[in-house]
Amino acid sequence: MPDATNDPALTSFVDVPDGSHFPIQNIPFGIFRPTSGAAPRVGTAIGDQVLDLSVLEEQRLFEHKTIRERRPFSRPSLNGFMQLGRPVWKAVRERIQHLLRADTPTLRDDNDLRARALHPQSRVEMVLPAEIGDYTDFYSSKEHATNIGTMFRGKENALMPNWTHLPVGYHGRASSVIVSGHDVRRPCGQTKPDDDAPPQYGPSRLLDFELEMGFFVGPGNDLGDPIPIDEAEEHIFGLVLVNDWSARDIQKWEYVPLGPFLGKSFATTISPWIVTLEALAPFRAEGPPQDPEPLPYLGRSGPGAFDIDLEVGLQAEGMDAPQTICRSNFRYLYWTMAQQLAHHTVNGCNVRPGDLMASGTISGPTEDSYGSLLELTWRGTQPIELPGGASRTFIEDGDQVVMTGSAAGDGYRIGFGEARAQVVPAPC
Ligand code: CA
Repeated sequence: MPDATNDPALTSFVDVPDGSHFPIQNIPFGIFRPTSGAAPRVGTAIGDQVLDLSVLEEQRLFEHKTIRERRPFSRPSLNGFMQLGRPVWKAVRERIQHLLRADTPTLRDDNDLRARALHPQSRVEMVLPAEIGDYTDFYSSKEHATNIGTMFRGKENALMPNWTHLPVGYHGRASSVIVSGHDVRRPCGQTKPDDDAPPQYGPSRLLDFELEMGFFVGPGNDLGDPIPIDEAEEHIFGLVLVNDWSARDIQKWEYVPLGPFLGKSFATTISPWIVTLEALAPFRAEGPPQDPEPLPYLGRSGPGAFDIDLEVGLQAEGMDAPQTICRSNFRYLYWTMAQQLAHHTVNGCNVRPGDLMASGTISGPTEDSYGSLLELTWRGTQPIELPGGASRTFIEDGDQVVMTGSAAGDGYRIGFGEARAQVVPAPC
């Protein structure tokens, strides 16, 4: 439920430019270094600035007992804060918002403290927000699953029989999750472009992105102890943008019978700021109707979706800015985050603070809302034209893929910043 922290009338003494993703109503959490070589610590984004929460912690500006005892903001990851749970997260959010308000003098009128605690975003280095122990990728867009199924099995058998009964997923690779701004090296591997010829080794020729969002797990569960559907959101710390880079040619040859492996595990790019469910409360929405009705442990979908506009831009070398090639929305997803988490743990599997759960490619109903090149170019048969005469069926070396997301509020915008990466040539 929206509360006083979502009030559109709130303003900060820190300048927030029009259209900024980070007004005082957002208060996302991330990990940054104020200068190169400095120890990573926890910050929040406000306008074009980063507020260093470790400085506020050191000044004992957080009154909450748990924060005073644990000092989670001087650490190089958010795992310690994530495990504290929603009541602490909410208290911290309210306190930060209070300290940033236009009418709160504590920081506003203390030049020395402000100089130590606020840094221009353009000057800091963002790093991964958490130590990610496990990364799971779901497959929760019905449009995406239908498109892929249609391409490979035909329209009649597009959706596998299990798809409308459970949130399909696979265990991804946590070690190769990287934060926005880092290059992605084109992977090498085994492919079989010709059905009648032996497989070959070399650079992937069919490199693709997948537009996704992901959530970070807060408090975990004990092994053997499933998370009930109606408690699942209490285990969700917040959301990021996710680009699940995919090498389609490697994937196509290797995936039978155990699913995605090296075609996925070479890189996953995420946006650096984690936006909380509290900031997103005004944007709750009904997802698509679920038919057949899911089994009781998966509950009903209800208002478990969020109205978050998503875009993918492609910027080839020589272009001044990315060209938007996809417009989608998080609310298109069939399965909710709560259902994903309830399903993930129903067999007793334990999740831990800092685990990342991605949604699966978020494709919508229209052709311009498809969340991968595989779908946008329909297996490479319909190239995308770029300014300057270039065209693309899949990603070429030097291309940058830029994902952005934001929810439009009443006079403000809750944004995620961007998940951006440039593809560099393969080493093989
Ligand atoms: Ca995926």
